[in-house]
Amino acid sequence: MTKTVAVIGAGPYGLSTAAHLRGHGLHVRIFGSPMASWVENMPAGMLLKSPPGASVLSAPEPGFTLSDYCREAGETRLDGDDRVPVEVFVRYGRWFAEEAVPGVENVRVLRVDRRPRGYRLGLSSQEEVSADAVVVAAGTHGFAYVPAPLASWVGEGLVSHSSRHADPAKFAGQDVVVVGGGQSGQEGAVLLHEAGARVRLLVRAPHLVFGRAPSPPPHWRPTGPLGRSWGLYALSRHAAAFRLLPAAARLHLARRAVGPFGAWWLQQRLERAVPVFLGQRVTAARQDGGSLVLTLRDTAGETRTLTAGHVMAATGYRVRVDALDFLAPHLRAVLARVGGYPELDEGFQSSVPGLYFTGVTAAATFGPLMRFTAGTRFAAPRLAAAVAAGR
Ligand SMILES: Cc1cc2nc3c(=O)[nH]c(=O)nc-3n(C[C@H](O)[C@H](O)[C@H](O)COP(=O)(O)OP(=O)(O)OC[C@H]3O[C@@H](n4cnc5c(N)ncnc54)[C@H](O)[C@@H]3O)c2cc1C
Repeated sequence: MTKTVAVIGAGPYGLSTAAHLRGHGLHVRIFGSPMASWVENMPAGMLLKSPPGASVLSAPEPGFTLSDYCREAGETRLDGDDRVPVEVFVRYGRWFAEEAVPGVENVRVLRVDRRPRGYRLGLSSQEEVSADAVVVAAGTHGFAYVPAPLASWVGEGLVSHSSRHADPAKFAGQDVVVVGGGQSGQEGAVLLHEAGARVRLLVRAPHLVFGRAPSPPPHWRPTGPLGRSWGLYALSRHAAAFRLLPAAARLHLARRAVGPFGAWWLQQRLERAVPVFLGQRVTAARQDGGSLVLTLRDTAGETRTLTAGHVMAATGYRVRVDALDFLAPHLRAVLARVGGYPELDEGFQSSVPGLYFTGVTAAATFGPLMRFTAGTRFAAPRLAAAVAAGR
């Protein structure tokens, strides 16, 4: 009998994985709203940090790249170092869903339970479905991270994580302090400013880091999907070997090997428009009327205060399988882990047979490539082959 595979999430990883699973002749049901997190959790007007060649979903046949989409849809062709607007990437992903993975079911998976044979899934449509295998491709769902002095003000509405805001225009005329020196913080601050907010950017590091601007060859460092350096090139070319490293090294590289840094083209836009406070750590926060007074400590140990109408925490994500609330507690409890990540085998299978993880949750097994769309080219065919082989 043909195996049924349930894929949870219809972002780049879920869609690519489903396309490859179907390429193996498996019966696949994929759940989620195509490209939802790129619409709901990223700011309108954003430009992707990854270039067009690294912003491509993976399919078992040719004809499904970003360039193919642009040609078919009559959109301006994007290649080389062109910037990819998030709106174009969303249209590409949705086109990919229609053409390569027809029948994506726009429902949420509320519960995944293990049965003596296979899995039982509860959907937001009230339907209950069975599957022989489950692929978790849920992106950063549940992983948004706000550090301690700010976290207690989230419930009061004075602090929010950057992923909560898709529309910078709603902050027009407001005073916003953005915390975080990575791409989300830098680009978020620029987009808020351009939407009419009064913005300041607080960064813990003593300086901002930007990617290398394109330059004519020859290049002494190789260019890969993660950037131009020998180390990043090795991490993207040898993702399969990454899992052979000691766990502590894998965790360190998964979290730290890429970033935080801003795209080269952000530097001027940011420095022209937004006051940046470098080397500042938020050590405490207290409410004063409708504002939040932040206590900051700089690298020399000096303290000062800064008053913010609203704080946007562009403070990233922490992967914790415990935060995947749709997995039954008994499933989460028995998963072998490395840090908060699930421990995976060479085919993306967790310690629970038939339960697979891909995307960012696979970064402690296959490296930082799994945090980016470019990683679908490695992950999707490998995972699909493992499921088809029954591993
Ligand atoms: C601000 C920002 C900018 C970024 N820019 C880039 C970039 O330029 N290039 C790049 O390669 N990467 C970028 N990334 C990283 C990017 O998120 C990943 O590359 C990519 O989205 C990973 O794809 P995914 O399918 O794993 O996750 P997602 O695209 O997040 O897709 C997962 C989907 O699963 C859905 N889901 C979760 N739980 C359930 C459930 N229970 N039931 C149904 N559906 C569910 C979610 O709603 C989501 O739509 C950026 C990230 C951020 C936050």
